[in-house]
Amino acid sequence: MNRTLSNWLQALEHLLLPPVPLCGLCGERARLPVGACKSCLDSLAISWRKREVQGYQCFSLFPYQGYGRDLVHRMKFQSGYEIAVTLGLFLGLAAREEPALAKVDILVPMPLSPGRLEIRGFNQAALLADNIKGVWKRPVSSCVLRTRETKSQSGLSLIERKRNVQGAFALLPGFDLRHRTCLIVDDVITSGHTFLAIAKLIEDYGGKPMGIFAARTEILSRSDLHAEKL
Ligand SMILES: [Zn+2]
Repeated sequence: MNRTLSNWLQALEHLLLPPVPLCGLCGERARLPVGACKSCLDSLAISWRKREVQGYQCFSLFPYQGYGRDLVHRMKFQSGYEIAVTLGLFLGLAAREEPALAKVDILVPMPLSPGRLEIRGFNQAALLADNIKGVWKRPVSSCVLRTRETKSQSGLSLIERKRNVQGAFALLPGFDLRHRTCLIVDDVITSGHTFLAIAKLIEDYGGKPMGIFAARTEILSRSDLHAEKL
């Protein structure tokens, strides 16, 4: 068969049998309309949860363990653009159905320090927010920025976590947050200290903070909660 005919037949085949879109999480199996395959959805053990962090309402999609933890790691450290797109879609669909979030005015992605942004090439929280916006029409506002580099929170004690992020964020001039419900978006909530640092900043400027996260660690123990108040 000559080359032109072969190319033509291949094009015809694609037209008649378009390639099946693959799962946005594993990239291996055919995706369901929700963007991921059944196997990934089962492994994630999705369970929409509400948690109050010092009086602020926070929502999350799956436990930060097993497959969910692997996914978050791949999204952050292996240029997981497709993963962020898919998890953002999940979060948008869940947020759209959550009555407590109906009053949200803007999405505020957790900012990344310029140093880490340069290394990673993208901010996973901003990607999540952009894709939440894709299905749940709320504007994304990058009104909060990091004013200094902070250490990674993992491996720090609760008190160290609090100190690490205290005063590390600022509101950009020109943004009016008064009476606006701001949904802080991030990949994972652990001790909640980073979320609290931004929530308090937003509140200082008259806004009403809430939070949405792809993954969560389980509720902290009593002694952890005591330490967190220090
Ligand atoms: Zn999959």
